Amino acid sequence: MLLNAPGFVPLISPPETVEGDAWWFVYRGTTILVRQDPSRVEVPCVAHPRDLGLDAPHVHYLGTLDGRHCFSAECAEGAEAPDGFVWAGLRSLFGAIDDSTFLLAGRAVQIVDWDRSHRFCGRCGTPTERKIHERSRVCPSCGQTHYPRLAPVAMALVTRGDELLLARSPHFPPGMMSALAGFVEPGESLEECLVREVREEVGVEVDNLRYFSSQPWPFPHSLMVAFHCDYVSGEIVPQEGEIEAAGWFRIDDLPVLPHRLSIARRLIEDALARLRASRVPGT
Ligand SMILES: [Zn+2]
Repeated sequence: MLLNAPGFVPLISPPETVEGDAWWFVYRGTTILVRQDPSRVEVPCVAHPRDLGLDAPHVHYLGTLDGRHCFSAECAEGAEAPDGFVWAGLRSLFGAIDDSTFLLAGRAVQIVDWDRSHRFCGRCGTPTERKIHERSRVCPSCGQTHYPRLAPVAMALVTRGDELLLARSPHFPPGMMSALAGFVEPGESLEECLVREVREEVGVEVDNLRYFSSQPWPFPHSLMVAFHCDYVSGEIVPQEGEIEAAGWFRIDDLPVLPHRLSIARRLIEDALARLRASRVPGT
């Protein structure tokens, strides 16, 4: 199981005084400030972004990583990166920075985005106020509370004997195939979503759903919930516009798989390990 950022302790209320430098996850739009050093990508470790000459209001305390305080902050559109730093897309950091920092950067961008898009009440338009001890913004006029948004996604790896059903969306890197996934709709359970998504995306019926694991995915604010399941019936018919290709793959004839940090890859590796262990030698 991949823990969400090993060494990280999530907290809401900042300490009264912060001793020493902190990790700062500073965003401009959806780009994050990182040191411009090809050999070692990292976020700034300073007392405050103003030490770098940055005007970064809307600060949120995130907690501690290996004992060091962590904050998110937001710069205005058009803010220039200080000398030695660049604004980088979060996706470009995937695999380029250590896993804990990446996961924290993903947590930070969701908090920054939520804070930015809920400064006014969505119900009555009044400016909202931040709560101190809870990650929420409250409308002083109508009382509506605005929490960070999360969009749950059910992910399904369908197995048929020693074959896996893998598919690709049009936006995947060339050649890459993965498990199926789709957003949960209001009123739907994760299991109902999974069965519906598999039916819609490839026209296949499944059962025997087994929960595998979950992973936050900050593009833009998903929670991936992954399941194994078994094929029951149906021929693969890729859904037009959603699924570019889909097929059954044996463990000795696999396509390009997703990145090792993704839950999709860990779900696939888990199935492969089980299939390899159950394989009869010589077949
Ligand atoms: Zn309101």
